[in-house]
Amino acid sequence: MTEPINAFTMAQSQFDNVAKMLSLDPQISEMLRWPTREFKFMIPVTMDDGSIRVFFGYRIQHNDARGPCKGGIRFHPSETLDTVRALAMWMTWKTAVADIPLGGGKGGVAVDPASLSVTEQERLVRGWIDQIWRNIGPRQDVPAPDVGTNPRMMGWMMDEYSKLVGEYTPGMITGKPVGGGGSLGRKEATGYGLIYTVREAMKHLGIDSTKSVAAIQGFGNVSQYSAIGFKEILGGKVACVSCWDHADRAPFTISHPDGVDPYFLQTITDIYGSIDKEKGHNAGYTIEDGDAWITKEADVLIPGALEGQINAETIKNISDRVKLVAEGANGPTTPEADEVFKQNDIFMIPDFLCNAGGVTVSYFEGVQNDMNYYWTRDEVLSRLDTTITKAFNSVVEMAESEKVYMRDAAYMVAIAKVVKAMELRGWM
Ligand code: NAD
Repeated sequence: MTEPINAFTMAQSQFDNVAKMLSLDPQISEMLRWPTREFKFMIPVTMDDGSIRVFFGYRIQHNDARGPCKGGIRFHPSETLDTVRALAMWMTWKTAVADIPLGGGKGGVAVDPASLSVTEQERLVRGWIDQIWRNIGPRQDVPAPDVGTNPRMMGWMMDEYSKLVGEYTPGMITGKPVGGGGSLGRKEATGYGLIYTVREAMKHLGIDSTKSVAAIQGFGNVSQYSAIGFKEILGGKVACVSCWDHADRAPFTISHPDGVDPYFLQTITDIYGSIDKEKGHNAGYTIEDGDAWITKEADVLIPGALEGQINAETIKNISDRVKLVAEGANGPTTPEADEVFKQNDIFMIPDFLCNAGGVTVSYFEGVQNDMNYYWTRDEVLSRLDTTITKAFNSVVEMAESEKVYMRDAAYMVAIAKVVKAMELRGWM
């Protein structure tokens, strides 16, 4: 067994590596390798049986040189200060590489939301806002959903915040339900954004997308729409997806010899992205252990669950056929595994470029909230395609001109933008 990776150590080491390549001033590096502000707070929640349970919440604001901090709120049992710090830092690079005028932040609570009733969830999310509302807002820091949180929770958070500040403030959070200040196209934005980057990468590598096969980890928001997009936009086949089993407290992989049907799987998946194993089995699907997804004969690997999943151990089992990795999740590849991809010339679409579709449409949601005028789904997705394709091309150009790995190139593009904004604001 390998030690679980500390995501923040990994985020700092990726940054340090590129800071060295760029010969970045050590004083600027020091300002960028740490979050600007960190909040940790207690949230006492009255449970349905009348008892009080204490949860711990976080909000980390990494950098706001380019605009208000932006990033999701994760509800996951293994959430720690360091995972939130790493995710906040990656958000800074993500908004910069996508060239949207926002900074980086992230929040979380160490909890398995599936273990709470809906009313307990509502008290927990309202409690999260009660603790942090003075330090977030449309011009300070704008949260959004992430693993374990959903549009309904964002609606409750917006309502709680609006009550506290005394005015309807939809722009304080994104990923809200459509009809409640949300944007059309937001739910599919991250998965489709990922597929737009895969489409561009395939053009670049000369791969016929209609003959390609993908293996996907996860079946939550990101992976569901990546699977749908892989089939519908690219015309490829999805060999398998995987997910977490709440009852067994372990992940599993689900596959079908003809490729999975993501629309069918959605009908047997709960709101946390867990597929009903028995219904899958009855429909002719094969169930294997959680790591089996990475062993499939696929051209494209899409890790779309959690950080640290492609590591020194699991990478030993990837097929020789893999040509492309599209990181749907944040930080899914450890530095050891990254080195193997680099050595084997496997094309990497790094997380903060690959999954920037979500934050891009979140930004569009904020813009629509400010205008109080809403675009059609096609308008949102076409703007998303333009933004993501431009971001992908800027990273490929950097990789080619500097002759560097795609992850390093993405860091170079992002760091240059953040440093320029810090200079323009007279921070150094
Ligand atoms: P989600 O909660 O909707 O889905 C997570 C999925 O991962 C579920 O299917 C769950 O069963 C599965 N899972 C959990 N642990 C697993 C394990 N050990 N092995 C296999 N599967 C496991 O979350 P999401 O919103 O799809 O986010 C997934 C990843 O993408 C996270 O890293 C998140 O930070 C990142 N991300 C999300 C968005 C977004 O807009 N939702 C945007 C950018 C990045």
